[in-house]
Amino acid sequence: MLLIKGGIVYSPEYLGKKDILIAGGKIEAIAEEITIEGRGLDVKIVDAEDYYVAPGFIDSHVHLLGGGGEGGYSTRTPEIQLSQLTSSGITTVVGCLGTDGVTRSMAALMAKARGLEEEGISTFCYTGSYEVPVKGLLSSVKEDIIIIDKIIGVGEIAVADHRSSQPTIDELKRTIADARVGGILSGKGGIVNIHVGDGEGRLKALMEIVATTEIPITQLLPTHINRSIDLFKAGIDFARQGGYVDLTTSYDPHNLKKDEVKASKGLRLLLEAGINIGQISFSSDGQGSLPMFNEKKELVGIGIGSTKTLFTEVRDAIIDDDIAFGDAIRVITENPARILKLKDKGRLAAGMDGDLVLISPDRLEIDTVIAKGRIMLEGGSLLVRGTFE
Ligand code: ZN
Repeated sequence: MLLIKGGIVYSPEYLGKKDILIAGGKIEAIAEEITIEGRGLDVKIVDAEDYYVAPGFIDSHVHLLGGGGEGGYSTRTPEIQLSQLTSSGITTVVGCLGTDGVTRSMAALMAKARGLEEEGISTFCYTGSYEVPVKGLLSSVKEDIIIIDKIIGVGEIAVADHRSSQPTIDELKRTIADARVGGILSGKGGIVNIHVGDGEGRLKALMEIVATTEIPITQLLPTHINRSIDLFKAGIDFARQGGYVDLTTSYDPHNLKKDEVKASKGLRLLLEAGINIGQISFSSDGQGSLPMFNEKKELVGIGIGSTKTLFTEVRDAIIDDDIAFGDAIRVITENPARILKLKDKGRLAAGMDGDLVLISPDRLEIDTVIAKGRIMLEGGSLLVRGTFE
């Protein structure tokens, strides 16, 4: 059991100064004062006096196996390690493949996700890669979602990108329909995570699918919408129709493209445009490649996405863009949990999973991370490392 004493709790709503009791990996109680002395219980006390206590962060788009390869085999990025996630405050991660669905497979992604789960965090996966038709594990997207517990949706499917498989609207429609029915029959989100590239098409294909089918716009989660100002504007239109939009936090600080919208700034701009904060999420694109192409689509450089950026962009939104703490953290806690229908995740309340992050109030730094009731990071020091770290 863990008793977190005296923190300033954001559920993400502001709850004020509270104690939180965690037992069996779940939040047992949140109350003004919880005392357990003299009851013969084995309880570790975590002093959270004056620290902010937030739900564990959810990163809905991470290349757990690595990604990339756009410059040949030597540019394939490496697998992620447990501590890269936990030291970023991430206690729940959704893994995806990406450009390369040949040398990286769904079977390998599932094994990696299960390994991270054994090491202490919560993991889910999207089935497929950039490609349509989707190459999943079983005979269809629908089967993967219904039969395989960890698979909660499809993605990242690429549109408007020179690396996309250039699916037709009908091919995309069928994939999305399959994901939707799979989600309905399994009680999962069945969300389709769409990688939107820098092509002229932007979100047009998605808009057309929404306009010509009965599929609700909320079945889709387009990501990277802050990669250019034009795509960002298309994202605002998409959100005005009720759609979700996901902003990517990884960028190359040495190579911020001139019309790229920093995620922290993007959050501010979306709110100013009247978009409800509940429609917005951040994801890191961690461990994916950050390839730089010139106008001829030739590779001119490559970097690697970091999961650390997930919270640094939230922090920048609070410090530089004046977003309230409780609002800013929603985009990496409650919102992705609700959008993806991740049960028992994203909120601090009795009965939810014991996933928490303690953040220092002065510099807004991640201090302590608890995943399913286990302390992974305490006072900035790692207590748990992955098997080969
Ligand atoms: Zn992508």
